[in-house]
Amino acid sequence: MGKLIVITAPSGAGKTTIVRHLIKTFYFLGFSISATTREKRKHEVDGKDYHFMTVEDFKKMRRRRKFLEWEEVYENQFYGTLRSEVERIWKEGKHIIFDVDVKGAKDIKKAYPNETLAIFVKPPSVEELFARLRNRKTEDEASLKKRFARSKRELKYEKKFDKVLVNDDLKIALKEAEEMVINFIKEK
Ligand code: ADP
Ligand code: 5GP
Repeated sequence: MGKLIVITAPSGAGKTTIVRHLIKTFYFLGFSISATTREKRKHEVDGKDYHFMTVEDFKKMRRRRKFLEWEEVYENQFYGTLRSEVERIWKEGKHIIFDVDVKGAKDIKKAYPNETLAIFVKPPSVEELFARLRNRKTEDEASLKKRFARSKRELKYEKKFDKVLVNDDLKIALKEAEEMVINFIKEK
């Protein structure tokens, strides 16, 4: 059984940027492709960034206990980690890296307490977090509003995780993320 690296943060803090960098840097990491019912963004690829599905299909899979964890992150927008992803990546002989919300991160840690490193990515300030999310230009005003509201709540969770990674200067944050991963993988 391999290890689990969970990257969590409020929306816009830089999870996706950090996870992408870690996957490119470390051949031994496999990305857990989550299932979601949200709309696909233009640059996203189904089966690579997410498994996009209808709410109906998501609920069907949930009934069949296909999820290790799941969450209705925004109203009628479900996200979940498929058990089959965990098995697929371990079968490839890799460690798993996840990009999930704070509740998902806690659930994964609970399921695999000794094998999981849960990293909370912290933005330098709320203002900067909101500015990044807006500048990303992926969300309309309604979605931004929902994300801002949730982010404010999620920022309070940092103490619940193994490590806090401040994402101010991106270059520094990426180096620190690499070190956290290497040190954890080296541990027995
Ligand atoms: P998340 O996956 O947590 O929602 P993203 O990785 O999509 O966040 O990052 C949100 C936006 O902020 C993106 O446009 C990204 O390029 C940008 N970004 C990420 N880290 C930094 C940083 N340290 N400084 C400035 N902009 C950043
Ligand atoms: P986004 O829509 O920006 O891709 O993701 C919104 C939020 O859902 C982010 O906090 C992201 O980490 C989270 N998320 C993505 N996949 C999963 C998952 O499988 N489980 C949980 N609990 N959250 C997820």
